[in-house]
Amino acid sequence: MRLLLVEDEPMLGDAVRERISRDGHAVDWVMRLDEAEAALAAVGYELVLLDLHLPDGRGLDLLRAMRQRGDRRPVLILTARDQVRDRIEGLNAGADDYLVKPFDLDELTARIGAIARRAGGDPTPTLTQGSYSIDRAHRRVRKEGREVALTAREWALVDRLAARLGTVVAKSQLEDALYEFGEEVESNAVEVHVSRLRKKLGAEFIETVRGLGYRLSGGE
Ligand code: CA
Repeated sequence: MRLLLVEDEPMLGDAVRERISRDGHAVDWVMRLDEAEAALAAVGYELVLLDLHLPDGRGLDLLRAMRQRGDRRPVLILTARDQVRDRIEGLNAGADDYLVKPFDLDELTARIGAIARRAGGDPTPTLTQGSYSIDRAHRRVRKEGREVALTAREWALVDRLAARLGTVVAKSQLEDALYEFGEEVESNAVEVHVSRLRKKLGAEFIETVRGLGYRLSGGE
């Protein structure tokens, strides 16, 4: 997924960004509301993590503005323990969930996964394809029941393919999944990672559909 993190506390923002990236998501991090508005207008984020107290205003105003213009992208609000009123207001304003600071990063991962599944209309986190099972909640791939360790970038590709199981995903969409690891994406980056995935999981795991893109195949 591609996420927007709106958080002005440097240490927290840094920790959250690192965790989300490690989980295989693409994340952009901004510290101000005006930057968040600009980013939302420019990029098709699939989830927003929103701190409520920012240097140039309240996160709730951003959330309300999103909902007013019909932007239904999931928003997870980040609040302090004593901000009960904020949480209630946030949920009433259309937030999908909240986390109370300081929160456990494992819980962050779990909440993001739950929101993503709900947003995707798919409450079933584990997908099966041939001899492979893909557990999107825990970011695990198993081949014949045996877990295969993947890097964050490899997982990002698998997750993008799994989100559209049975259909062909264009190379450009897989490139998008790689973009937000903070570096340039080489023109052959998708091929390189697909090749590594095939080495780890078997050549039949990902099918190349010439001229169109890639599909999780599982040999079926
Ligand atoms: Ca803040």
